[in-house]
Amino acid sequence: MSKRDYYEVLGVSRNASQEEIKKAYRRLARKYHPDVNPGDKEAEAKFKEVKEAYEVLSDPEKRARYDQFGHAGTEGGANGFGGFGGFEGFGGGADFGGFDDIFDMFFGRGFGTRSRRKAPQKGADLEVEMEISFEEAAFGTEKDVEVPRRETCPACHGSGAEPGTTPLRCKACNGTGQIRVSQQTPFGHFESIRTCHQCHGQGTVITTPCRRCGGEGQIRRTRKIQVKIPPGVDTGNRLRVAGEGEAGVYGGPPGDLYVYIKVKPHEIFTRDGYDIYCEVPISFAQAALGDEIEVPTLNGKAKLKIPEGTQSGTTFRLKGRGIPYVRGGGRGDQHVKVQVVTPVNLTEKQKELLRQLEASLSGKNLQGRERGFFEKVRDAFMG
Ligand SMILES: [Zn+2]
Ligand SMILES: [Zn+2]
Repeated sequence: MSKRDYYEVLGVSRNASQEEIKKAYRRLARKYHPDVNPGDKEAEAKFKEVKEAYEVLSDPEKRARYDQFGHAGTEGGANGFGGFGGFEGFGGGADFGGFDDIFDMFFGRGFGTRSRRKAPQKGADLEVEMEISFEEAAFGTEKDVEVPRRETCPACHGSGAEPGTTPLRCKACNGTGQIRVSQQTPFGHFESIRTCHQCHGQGTVITTPCRRCGGEGQIRRTRKIQVKIPPGVDTGNRLRVAGEGEAGVYGGPPGDLYVYIKVKPHEIFTRDGYDIYCEVPISFAQAALGDEIEVPTLNGKAKLKIPEGTQSGTTFRLKGRGIPYVRGGGRGDQHVKVQVVTPVNLTEKQKELLRQLEASLSGKNLQGRERGFFEKVRDAFMG
């Protein structure tokens, strides 16, 4: 069977642009696709014909050979092009997800990939942990973090070729970055496209690798990066430092750096959200008579009034003395729990005074709640 002219098959002129050829192919491939024409042998043959024509005309080099030598220029040629006939197994498309998937394969991952292989790719994101003090978390700070990362090689600017040399077109894939592989399966003969193993899809081969990066185009470097920490952060918070991740490739933007905050424990304060907590000791007399005491806060000392008759364990609130809200607009509170300290190492005279005090109190002046407790205990023991 003599082959039709490829331009005629696609219905384009001999000087059609790549875009026109692609458009014509898409239109015809949809029209004659086996999924649209089940069991139609003629459509199937047309589909094969269209695909083959596109195969050649979409590749500038093959197209040039075809223009010069006709079909002879493309058959059994250097790229194993002769084995293209085996499309029969494709029939019902049962082995694929259907029409769309097949088109994806043709246009997305198949023929269309030439532009994708060198498409800019964003660099990877990086994560680091940063330990900061309680106060730094509360009020914010700026801190350096050391980040080992991949950066674009400054010598070759990412090309991987020694400065002054030029990468050569890959012979294995003819610069396309892809290799066509034929496969015989129980469902028939398949053609698949793989990334070229010689150039790893680059389409070019570096003859003189860059000495600085060994041809990788990137180098490892540990960078000190200043991270601005806003007031109010807490353990587990994640800060994003845009553009400080790994370098991108093919001109792609760098990734981002994510800093995970870990707040060191404080000697005095604990934290829950934006509120902070501490305990202060007071004497028995302060608790009984009342007093004004000084308590530590995140901003120095503050005065706290202890009312007369304060019980051990009572919590007082200092409004707005907690952690600033990370989004601004105020602060949490400080909660101060007082602990009444029992006096120790008393002198004989002090002990005598306490006995006199105890005798004078005889339980009557204890607060209602506490008294109830003592009575319950007495009841339990004495019935
Ligand atoms: Zn380099
Ligand atoms: Zn290659």
